[in-house]
Amino acid sequence: MTDLEVEGAEGADRGPQEPAYTVLDPSTGKPLAEVAMAGQAEVDTAVARALRAFPAWREVAPGDRARLLRRFAARVDEEIEELARIEVANAGHTIGNARWEAGNVRDLLDYYAGAPERLCGRQIPVAGGIDVTFREPLGVVAVIAPWNFPMPIAAWGVAPALAAGNTVILKPAEYTPLTALRLAELAREAGLPPHVFQVLPGRGPVAGQRLVEHPDVAKLVFTGSTAVGRRIAAQGGQRLVPVTLELGGKSANIVFADADLEKAAAAAPYAVFDNAGQDCCARSRILVQRSVYDRFLELFEPAVAAVKVGDPGLPETEMGPLISATQRDRVAAFLTEDVPIAFRGSAPDGPGFWFPPTVVAPGDPDSPVCTQEVFGPVVAVLPFEDEADAIRLADATRYGLSGSVWTRDVGRALRVARAVQSGALSVNSNSSVRYWTPFGGYKDSGLGRELGPDALEAFTQTKNVFIAAD
Ligand code: NAD
Repeated sequence: MTDLEVEGAEGADRGPQEPAYTVLDPSTGKPLAEVAMAGQAEVDTAVARALRAFPAWREVAPGDRARLLRRFAARVDEEIEELARIEVANAGHTIGNARWEAGNVRDLLDYYAGAPERLCGRQIPVAGGIDVTFREPLGVVAVIAPWNFPMPIAAWGVAPALAAGNTVILKPAEYTPLTALRLAELAREAGLPPHVFQVLPGRGPVAGQRLVEHPDVAKLVFTGSTAVGRRIAAQGGQRLVPVTLELGGKSANIVFADADLEKAAAAAPYAVFDNAGQDCCARSRILVQRSVYDRFLELFEPAVAAVKVGDPGLPETEMGPLISATQRDRVAAFLTEDVPIAFRGSAPDGPGFWFPPTVVAPGDPDSPVCTQEVFGPVVAVLPFEDEADAIRLADATRYGLSGSVWTRDVGRALRVARAVQSGALSVNSNSSVRYWTPFGGYKDSGLGRELGPDALEAFTQTKNVFIAAD
């Protein structure tokens, strides 16, 4: 056992104990830590504690709540290197990415530290008196996080929820609990009151499920697979609690003939192979206008060959391993015999869950590799004829999370960005996530918005008070 403890376990009537979970280093496949897993009893204890902590936390003066969040941000900032090193070992993230991810947690805490003093209600003109609204916290929020970006995605829920005066229980994914546990310690060191923010590692169908069905959990935030998200939405619906879902994606990188092709091709590997493709925003389909299709592939091939895949702890590495052997098998299963592989990059042999960057071309728009989320370093390149065809192809999946449009024509960029059924589009850029701006999916990619000012809507409810004036 490591010295990592399940928060909320102490004093609980444990009942049958959940077996511990062996966390692996995905770049070696070797055990990294044994982590205690919460069972139903630990979840119930944690929820009871969070519920007891809620009335005092919501009453903390706005300036003091802001200061506590800033202190939490400062502790994260002091430990960026340590958090990053933990993530390199636990998730196989490159050290450069992992530093960015820890910095993102700091930035989110700092950004939402501005919220407690700015969560204004309204005064609404009415007859016979005065009407005011208040934005009130919801209570205990459960954040169920995925393994692909353990730190940032957890913080997308935790930071605004705390800022709005809620207490929070974070359940990290089984594969990647280590940075979350360290964040809980940093919150304590920053002076957050006990049980305002708890981290509870546990198995999805056990601890996750119990959080979802617990009658005292007032809000659910989930990031992960569409199948589990759908179930959580149904269960939240039964209990009438709000649910924010961030699910999968099959985003399109749309390259028009008038684009800066060199720039688009140079940016395309990062847009899909970053985090070994385990990114809900991965542009895993590249749609290229037919007149420049061959030229684009000529430019793309050396860019893919140049992706440095290997030891994620080395500063020059650009892509690490997949999270698990299961994920590697799931990715490999998309590459059936009839799928035309145009070219591939390299990946280390030997232990660890490695998979080379892989380009499928020409993609068959109806094949699974072109319609389903691969969540690995595989991209399909498909030709299109004109603007209407590009939009039709971009929308030809059940997902609608993000995407990019590459063109020098501003009018076309706007037309296409507005037309594609997707929550976040970038023009001449391969990134979708900025903590100042709303992020979330259309269609099967999710429900609700995280980040930016919109996230605060998800963690508050409006109270209306009328005061008679006669
Ligand atoms: P998952 O949806 O099973 O797990 C995500 C989180 O939900 C984890 O914390 C897990 O413990 C929890 N969970 C699982 N079952 C639960 C339940 N019944 N009740 C409550 N919580 C539950 O995802 P996975 O199996 O780890 O990955 C499968 C696929 O999901 C991937 O291949 C990928 O396509 C997709 N995925 C998407 C994202 C994303 O960012 N949108 C993240 C992770 C996985």
